[in-house]
Amino acid sequence: MVYCAAFDCNNDSRYTTGISYHCFPRNEALRSQWLAKISRADLVVSKNFRLCSEHFTPDCYERDLKAEILGLKPRSTLKPGAIPTVFSHRNHQKDLDFHRRNVQKRKSEKNI
Ligand SMILES: [Zn+2]
Repeated sequence: MVYCAAFDCNNDSRYTTGISYHCFPRNEALRSQWLAKISRADLVVSKNFRLCSEHFTPDCYERDLKAEILGLKPRSTLKPGAIPTVFSHRNHQKDLDFHRRNVQKRKSEKNI
């Protein structure tokens, strides 16, 4: 069982299908770039922490020509040096604002 370590992502290998989980790079420079990208520079990476495929653009992956020719599901192998760039921090902020508005609305309804 592995988890996605990204700040705004709750993906967990127990509940997801069709998502691959990538180990943090051994290379320290690259690993710290990943951690900066996921807003968790202070995270201590353990073997259960991965990054899920939702944070990588398609061009981060090696093409699996054999699978393409045979019409199989391609292996999801990251290119060396691939950096995760797909995050929804902005959406997260929007959700918070939405939540706050709802709370205010409920409060004013109560006062009436
Ligand atoms: Zn994720």
